[in-house]
Amino acid sequence: MRIVLLGPPGAGKGTQAKALATELNIPHIATGDLFRYNVGEQTPLGQEAQHFMDQGLLVPDSVTNRMVAQRLHEPDTQHGFLLDGYPRNVGQAHTLNGMLAILGVELNVVLNFNIDEELLLTRIAKRAKEEGRTDDTTEIFRVRMGEYQAQTAPLIPFYTDAGLIRDIDADGTVEVVHARLMDAVNAAR
Ligand code: AMP
Repeated sequence: MRIVLLGPPGAGKGTQAKALATELNIPHIATGDLFRYNVGEQTPLGQEAQHFMDQGLLVPDSVTNRMVAQRLHEPDTQHGFLLDGYPRNVGQAHTLNGMLAILGVELNVVLNFNIDEELLLTRIAKRAKEEGRTDDTTEIFRVRMGEYQAQTAPLIPFYTDAGLIRDIDADGTVEVVHARLMDAVNAAR
């Protein structure tokens, strides 16, 4: 299965992605995690990305696309993958289509997390405490939400036109949302 997770920051994509990837036995590829790893290690890629991440802005496509292309060429993606946090704009989605064409594969489904914005703020405040993420302050969260609305939300019509979108109600316990996701994945097989 080749799956993309789509949704606003704080919708629970990361938590759900881990469980889904484990259950489906495919690698979980989270661009945010890859960036945070590179920032932690202070690699050249991390140094390029850090300044954008700290402000809640998207890292430039050239940097992001290169990182994803490398990751998708690793052998563990042969039987599928779950992309979490990528693509984040229509340009990245076109680039992803190009990468998949080179690999001779297609996406199976795009799982679109639907959730109320007020709930997101509560969740983000909780995650800031639990994980100590520096981009989880209310102010930076608003920037991240603005980036989502302006850049990422247009992926919904993009993937709807491609016939790939499945809407998921992301308000519920971790277990309930997981079950909804698995239903959508099974329906797309
Ligand atoms: P996330 O953990 O997915 O919320 O990502 C954390 C931060 O990493 C984002 O706010 C961006 O600065 C950066 N980032 C992650 N994925 C992407 C992407 N696909 N394109 C651009 N920037 C990204």
